[in-house]
Formats: sequence, structure tokens, C-alpha cells
Amino acid sequence: MSESSRPQGGSTTVTGAPAPSDRNSLTLGDTGPILLHDHHFLDQMAHFNRERVPERNVHAKGSGAFGTFVTTEDVSAYTKAALFQPGVETEMLARFSTVAGEQGSPDTWRDPRGFSLKFYTTEGNYDLVGNNTPVFFVRDTMKFPHFIRSQKRRGGSGLRDNDMQWDFWTHNPESAHQVTWLMGDRGLPRSWRHMNGYGSHTYMWVNEAGEKHWIKYHFKSDQGVKCLTQESGDQIAGEDSDFHRRDLREAIEREEFPSWTLHVQVMPYEDAKTYRFNPFDLTKVWPHGDYPLIKVGTMTLNRNPDNFFAEIEQAAFEPSAVVPGIGFSPDKMLLGRVFSYADTHRYRIGPNYHQLPVNRPKNVESVNTYTFDGPMAYEHSGDAPVYAPNSYGRGYSDLTGGAEDGWEADGEMVRQAYALREEDDDFGQARTLVNEVWDDDMRDRFVANVSGHILGGVKEQTLPRVFDYWKSVDPDLGKRIEETVRAGAADPPAPHPTEPEGVIG
Ligand code: NDP
Repeated sequence: MSESSRPQGGSTTVTGAPAPSDRNSLTLGDTGPILLHDHHFLDQMAHFNRERVPERNVHAKGSGAFGTFVTTEDVSAYTKAALFQPGVETEMLARFSTVAGEQGSPDTWRDPRGFSLKFYTTEGNYDLVGNNTPVFFVRDTMKFPHFIRSQKRRGGSGLRDNDMQWDFWTHNPESAHQVTWLMGDRGLPRSWRHMNGYGSHTYMWVNEAGEKHWIKYHFKSDQGVKCLTQESGDQIAGEDSDFHRRDLREAIEREEFPSWTLHVQVMPYEDAKTYRFNPFDLTKVWPHGDYPLIKVGTMTLNRNPDNFFAEIEQAAFEPSAVVPGIGFSPDKMLLGRVFSYADTHRYRIGPNYHQLPVNRPKNVESVNTYTFDGPMAYEHSGDAPVYAPNSYGRGYSDLTGGAEDGWEADGEMVRQAYALREEDDDFGQARTLVNEVWDDDMRDRFVANVSGHILGGVKEQTLPRVFDYWKSVDPDLGKRIEETVRAGAADPPAPHPTEPEGVIG
């Protein structure tokens, strides 16, 4: 092929030879059939067909950035984890997302936001897969697939359906705290930079002496918390569905690096046994008055990804990625997630997703895992033994005895909800949020948000349960929602007009 027929130096085939043409397929005459041996054309088409990996079933739409976490305080009394020792700086990646929407969905739909962090520590990767809310809709993972399906699309029509959402929420009243939070101002953040992040679950920290504490993570935005009104969110959704993705990218390009200050709440191990409500219940916060925030350090995002697919789409966050000094808790939602995240990556990316540059534990001296081969295996240990124990010098682990990050458990195998304690109820903390944290303007916007959402398609048969749900949070609030919905239902706006304005022809 002459240089003149290869503009800009020309492209190559996937195997590196000069490509014949990226513009003309090989045909028998100019109107003839395409020939099967046009391997360059076949490679291009076949690879194009495989260009996307399945989107995440949950948290599909998002983006992120790289940065650094610096531990500015001394919390070594609580954890021996290397990344949380005073002065330690750790490379990290953050990904933010909506929950229910698909890849192209608008960033400004009302939804919780994912707040996933990957710390490339010297002891292995530590992933903290949180949200911008401190609580969640359910407290047993068994309910999780049902919950997510109810927030996505109907099987038959493929349409989203507010009735399905409220039907699920009201059949699961433990959702009331999270739904209150979601329908309040913070359910629609101004940007990812202007929201807090919470680990949400209760985790365990273990110090050098082996002492255990229960902890909760709070990343407070140094930009301040800012939110959008429903009207503003709806308008932006139509104008720029990537509003939050663009905001983060452009802020970092302007070198306005967003940062968050990490605090933890620390509960002595023994307190959990007698605390007034179950401290492992993901639908509840620990009141700050009981367990105040303790500062740990600062996370700053300062580098945009160079390749969205390789560094964000293929980034695999998993709560199972823990390091020495950090453990799990009896939170049933957490224990289910410890399985499901890694499993979803195996399906979505492939079983060797850990070997991709963005997921590799790049700051440890070496990785010595006995997981072996499989699709797209890239890292190999040559002729080293593929089994343990072995007599040829390849190390293996053989811990016995109590797990240092374990807890006591006893009793018969059962399928039942957590046993109720003195102050375990589904509505109390939602009531506190509405009545003691919010002001009148916030409550007004909340009533409008909830009522507008209900009027967007909740069926008559579901409504009594919806009104009871809110009356259980607060009788006056429930009454206001009922009155607003009934007034709106008497003269309903057409939310989805069959003939929109602005039709030409
Ligand atoms: P505090 O008064 O000590 O804390 C109130 C919390 O509410 C602060 O963390 C504040 O976050 C947060 N907050 C402020 N405005 C809103 C809003 N519009 N929507 C959601 N959260 C908001 O009281 P308690 O710790 O006793 O908690 C009272 C209630 O506050 C809880 O029932 C819970 O609903 C909510 N809450 C509690 C949190 C906790 O971990 N204790 C965390 C977040 C909410 P900030 O200071 O970061 O702006």
C-alpha cells in the first residue's frame, strides 16, 4: 500500500499489519457481495458487537476521578489499617452514580447516589462502597433484588412505574427513613461535589492490640452540601443528562479539586450488645449525641480518568475488599453485598477483573493468589506450584483459631428479622429527621416532592397504604400529603401528554 493512500500514517489490523481500508469493504465488483475473507472488516464488525460490557444492574450511570486520601489525625487506638495511620497518603479512585437509571439516564433524577471508593493501600486494595445517604431502604439482602426491580422497569411494558415503587416501599415499612431522606432536599444533589458520602453500614475496626470497635464512616463535603429543587432537576434532566458527570470533570480540569473530610463514629465493641436499638440495622443512623464524629483525614480528587471505559466502566468496587484492621459486622445487608459485588464483576467484566490496571492492588509488594488462569488471564506465576501446601517454596496462608475481626454468634439456624430492641421501630428516625432537622421550608418542599411523585402514577388501591405510611412517620405530615394528593388527583395534570406541545406537521 502506498503512503499516499494511507492518510495520517494509516491504521493497522488488530494483529498489527497495515490495514487495507477503514472506508471500503472488499466486494466482488462495486455492487457485488462482501467477501468473507475481508478479515479486517470482520474484525471491526465483530469487535464492535462486543464493545460494551453489560452495564451494572445497579448504579449503571456514573463517573469518577482519582485522588489521594491523607490521614491527618491519629486514630491508631481504633485501627491498625496502614492507610489510617497518621500522615499516610494513599492513592485512590472515587466513583459516583445514580442507582436505578440506566447508562444514559439523566444525572438529576431523584435517587440516592453511589459514593464508591477504592484505596490502593500498601496492604491491598480497600474498597468502601457507600452512598450519599447514611441509611438504606431494607435491612436484609434477601429483599435487595426485589427492591431494585421495583425501582427500575416493569417486565411487560419496559416502563418505569411509580406505583411499583410505592407498592414495594409501603409493603416494607423499614424503608420509611430512607424514603424520607430521598424525598427531602438531599435526594437531589447540586453536584457530586456538593454531597456527603457515608459508608452507611456498620464496620469493625481492629487496633494493633486486637481490640475491636464498631464504626460508621462519614465523608463530609468541603464544598458544602447543596441540593437542587425538583423543578430544577427536571429541567436539567432534559437539557444535560450528564450534568453531574460534566461538573466533576470540569471542576478538576479547572483545578478546583473537590475534597471531603472523613469522620468516623466509634462504638465500643461491647456497647452493641445493649444499645437501645440494633446498631447493625442499615435503616438507622447512630445519633451523633450518642457517638460523636471523630475526624480522620481528607480525600481530594485531582485527576480525571484518561479512559472512561478502562478506568470507570471497568472499575470494580466490592465491599469484600478489606485490609488488616478493618472487618465486617453482623449487618445482613453488608454480608450479602460482600458476596454479590465480586460476583457481579465476574459476570460483567470476567473472572480476572482484578488484573485490570484500575483494579490491580498496585501498591502491595506482590500479589500471591492461587486463583489461576481463566478468561483473559494476564498475570501468570510461571511454573510455581498451583496448589497449596507445596514443597517448592510458594507461600501459602494457614490461619487457624478465632478470626481477629470476628464476632460471637450463637443459636439455632433461623430465617427471621433481627430481634427487636427497646427502640427498634421503622419510623422513629424518619420522624426525627422531619421534625428536628428540617425547617418549615424543607417540610413544604418534601410534601410537594412526595405528592408529585405519588401523583405520577400511584394507583388508588395503593394510596391508603401510602397515606398510612406517612402518618406513621408523622400524623400531620401524612395528613398534608393525603390532602395534597387528593386535591391534585381531583384535577390531575397530564404527566405524560399523548400529544406534546411543539409538534410540527
Ligand atoms: P444531629 O442533629 O446531630 O444530626 C443531624 C444530621 O442531619 C446531620 O448529620 C446533618 O448532616 C443531617 N442533615 C441536615 N439536613 C439534612 C437534610 N435535609 N436531609 C438529611 N440529613 C440532613 O442529629 P442525630 O445524629 O440525632 O440525627 C437526627 C436525624 O438526622 C436522624 O434521624 C437522621 O435522619 C438524620 N441524619 C443523621 C445522621 C447521623 O449519622 N447521625 C447522618 C445524616 C442524617 P450534616 O451535618 O452533614 O450537614
